[in-house]
Amino acid sequence: MDCPSYLSDDVIKLPSIPPPKRVTLIDRASNAGYFDALPLELCHSVLDLLDPQTVATVSCLNYKLYSIVSALKSFEETTAHAWRVLKILTVIGTISHFSVARLQAVLRSDRCHLCFAYGRSLHIPTCERCCFNCPSYDRSFTMLYPAIAEKYYGLTCEEAKRIPLCA
Ligand SMILES: [Zn+2]
Repeated sequence: MDCPSYLSDDVIKLPSIPPPKRVTLIDRASNAGYFDALPLELCHSVLDLLDPQTVATVSCLNYKLYSIVSALKSFEETTAHAWRVLKILTVIGTISHFSVARLQAVLRSDRCHLCFAYGRSLHIPTCERCCFNCPSYDRSFTMLYPAIAEKYYGLTCEEAKRIPLCA
C-alpha cells in the first residue's frame, strides 16, 4: 500500500528514488551457514522476525541467502507493494522497529487496530491501521517530544530511551 501523495509529498519530504528493481542472479553454489541446516519454512520464520533493512542486508550476503530471501512472501510483498511506506519509515528512522511479518500483516489488514472499523489509513509512527476517527479521539496516536513524554507519563530515563523516536 502506498501512502497518499499529499502525505508523502507535503508532510514528509522524500528523495526522488524509483521503486526497487528485481535482480535475477545466475544460480551458483554458496553457503547459507546455519540456515543450511533448517527447512525453508523455519528459515522464513526466522527472517519474518527481522526488519526489512536487515532482511535486505541478509539477501546481499551470498546467492543462497538471496534465494531464501527471494522466496520470503512477507518481504516480497512489502517491497513490491509498499516500498513508499518502507521509504517513509526509513526517512523517519523507525523501520528497524517493525518486522517484515508485522508490516505484511498491517498492510494486508483493512481494519482499524482500535475500533475494527474500516481502517484506510496507516499511522506511520506506530505502523498500525487506523480509521478516520480514531486519531482525533484516541490519545495513543498523540506524538510527543521525549522530554514531554518523560514528564507527562512519569517515565524514568531508562524507560524513555526505549520509546521509538521519529527523526
Ligand atoms: Zn478506529
